[in-house]
Amino acid sequence: MQKAILRGETINLIEKRWKNRREYLKQPLQRNELFCPLCESKVEMHWALPAKRISHFKHKIQRDCTYGVGESEEHNLGKLKLYEYLKETLASKLETIQVEHFLPDSKQVADIFILFKTGQKWVVEYQRSNISSEDIRKRRLLYKSLNITDIWICGENLVKEDELVTVSLRNAAQELQYKGKFGSASLITFNPIKEEISIFRGLERLNLNSFTISDIFKCQLNELCFNVWGILIVIRII
Ligand SMILES: [Zn+2]
Repeated sequence: MQKAILRGETINLIEKRWKNRREYLKQPLQRNELFCPLCESKVEMHWALPAKRISHFKHKIQRDCTYGVGESEEHNLGKLKLYEYLKETLASKLETIQVEHFLPDSKQVADIFILFKTGQKWVVEYQRSNISSEDIRKRRLLYKSLNITDIWICGENLVKEDELVTVSLRNAAQELQYKGKFGSASLITFNPIKEEISIFRGLERLNLNSFTISDIFKCQLNELCFNVWGILIVIRII
């Protein structure tokens, strides 16, 4: 998690004004007063120099709070790269874009929340942990009930490319297939290290985890684009 509460103020480690304040936050007076924005229990700051991992907060004792759970280094990296990219490319249309945005009505923390000048709302979820179908459906229904368009991008770890024409999808990836108007299913993944987007098209179940595909389209993050309905389009840069 990138956010914590310090004496009523939200600290967001990706904001410029907090980027150079490691020493201040490490002092006991601050260090012992950092709390989770969701469950309000104590969190500790992980910010080493030289940096081995992306600086973040973590619950001192993990109880049943969902904020920050299952967030690997790759998850944080992917989330931040998607955030930076969307912030830049959608800039002229944005009212606000937030990382780890708390939605009080559904008590969810969205990886990336976008409010457009038109009033339209999106969340972008970067999913790397193999959570259950039930959890995914619950989250999607909550977004729907709030009239928020939800876009899910899987980690490359949820898909294994077996051969040219088949792939294995882990459970969360199966649940996050995008079903097009004409019944064809596709899936989008992001590899944050390579900054590579893969789009698996024409997915059809072969057996339990194995799917046939019509093709895989690979591109770099800077070619990724969504239309106003949150549907993926890709701009080929020549
Ligand atoms: Zn918490």
